Amino acid sequence: MIIFLSDEAATLEFGAALWRAVDGGGLIFLSGDLGAGKTTLARGLLRAAGVSGAVKSPTYTLVEEYRLEGRMLYHFDLYRLGGAEELEWMGIRDYLENDALCLVEWPERGAGVLPEADLHLHLEPQAEGRRMEIFAATERGKAMLARIAA
Ligand code: ADP
Ligand code: MG
Repeated sequence: MIIFLSDEAATLEFGAALWRAVDGGGLIFLSGDLGAGKTTLARGLLRAAGVSGAVKSPTYTLVEEYRLEGRMLYHFDLYRLGGAEELEWMGIRDYLENDALCLVEWPERGAGVLPEADLHLHLEPQAEGRRMEIFAATERGKAMLARIAA
């Protein structure tokens, strides 16, 4: 599915719609160059999920974590990851367990260690806005996509 996001507000609104389409946890990849809008989308989702205050970009920390109604949401930015094996040292498997929701910017840096995502969103500049392509790789991802499309 391809969606055109005409401005920042549209990216934030899509993030909110994505939150409403999530059922429990899952693994969501956000790809695209620097400035594509990945963190903006994550911010829209986190705000819709009830995170108040500023949403920090995990550029330096690699991951920011949020507890929402007893479940965990992890926002990764792997741009500064030294190598995929660093994810093993971080204990990536623990993050992916217990039906947490994981958003991952720069997932390609974790190739070989990260499992396949349920949903993969790819953003790129188009005119003044962003073109976003969405792929669902699992049954769970397909269900999310169907709820987004509805
Ligand atoms: P990334 O995390 O991919 O590096 P950011 O989310 O930090 O990118 O966004 C970079 C810039 O793009 C921000 O200034 C943001 O306001 C802008 N932006 C986000 N979505 C859109 C959009 N749909 N159209 C135009 N600008 C956007
Ligand atoms: Mg970012």
